[in-house]
Amino acid sequence: SPLFSAIEMAPRDPILGITEAYNADQNPAKVNLGVGVYYDDNGKVPLLECVKKAEAILIEKYAPRTYLPIEGLAAYDKAVQELVFGADSAVVKEKRAITAQAIGGTGALKLGADFLQRFAPTSQVWISDPSWENHRALFESAGFKVNNYPYYDANTRGVNFAGMLDALKTMPAGSIVLLHACCHNPTGADLTDDQWTQVIEVVTQRGLIPFLDMAYQGFGDGIEADGKVVRRFAEAGGALFVSNSFSKSFSLYGERVGALSIAASSADEAARIMSQLKRVIRTNYSNPPSHGGQVVATVLATPELRQLWEEELAGMRVRIREMRHAFVAKLKEKAPAHNFDFVIQQRGMFSYSGLTKEQVGKLRDGNSIYAVDTGRICVAALNSKNIDNVIDAIAKVL
Ligand code: PMP
Repeated sequence: SPLFSAIEMAPRDPILGITEAYNADQNPAKVNLGVGVYYDDNGKVPLLECVKKAEAILIEKYAPRTYLPIEGLAAYDKAVQELVFGADSAVVKEKRAITAQAIGGTGALKLGADFLQRFAPTSQVWISDPSWENHRALFESAGFKVNNYPYYDANTRGVNFAGMLDALKTMPAGSIVLLHACCHNPTGADLTDDQWTQVIEVVTQRGLIPFLDMAYQGFGDGIEADGKVVRRFAEAGGALFVSNSFSKSFSLYGERVGALSIAASSADEAARIMSQLKRVIRTNYSNPPSHGGQVVATVLATPELRQLWEEELAGMRVRIREMRHAFVAKLKEKAPAHNFDFVIQQRGMFSYSGLTKEQVGKLRDGNSIYAVDTGRICVAALNSKNIDNVIDAIAKVL
């Protein structure tokens, strides 16, 4: 049909392409640092004990699989809202916040983007340079013009904060600013508390619309510490969008569990927002799947399971930090002329390692070590068995 014959091949997803090449590689010592997944010290994606226990409880119940409400499981939405804003926060107590279960963090972003397209169609979206590669595509596909604000500074291997703040100061009122609440993907470089204070001030004063993406809560400095930015924005008042994901923090990637929360100025506003958000959901996929939401809701609402989750999440966070320290210490030994101390300062699963595209190519071709061309490596893919091999290889290509 002429309809199909005119269709061109879409470009391959660059990161999935890395995994395809890795899978085809026959070298038994191969390492995939290109992924965005947490692996344990055995190189396996963990199935958390708290999840196993919650699933055992759910199986015991053998509940029929009816449709969930459009906005998702009530117990899930409540637990997530309390996790995101704090159970004792003013927005929660005054019923000024709404939370809808979403198809992972991606689905939450897409719901927020579609909602904003209905009610702020002339606004433009601003994302960090660089950002998670799907941010731009998601907001563009919702109909927005997407711009970058300065973020990463390759020279300091940190944040170009002056550049970021200047950009915020010159955006038109009503601009939608996408911010990584913690554990910036891809760089690992986060703002300090003091820098957040300045960002919140400018965003509030200038009437910008903050959209906080929190895909890695608990992987930086802890659940509370990582969620602090969201709470501070909520306290500042004003419109606030928060997308969050449990893909990583519950190791439930394939269950697609996330949520979109919106904070408003009154309970009445919140109710109207929810009614409109439900229309967005209804026309997208009607209502979310139930299993993942039930698992997360069960864990969050059962004190022993929640305690277990917090311990297991802390275990993942600590292991990543140990790998950061080992990475830096071993490189200090093998390549003393180079300083990688910044890797310890970075937060979350990723590191902008500073490796160039050419060095990434040499690691791949010479050692079957796969990383993203930008130099992004997944620290959570390092483990006690592969790290020496990785360090030796990196020291050779530096
Ligand atoms: N935001 C960021 C910054 C991410 O890195 C990711 C992917 N892990 C997502 C959103 C999407 O999360 P999910 O996999 O739950 O859709």
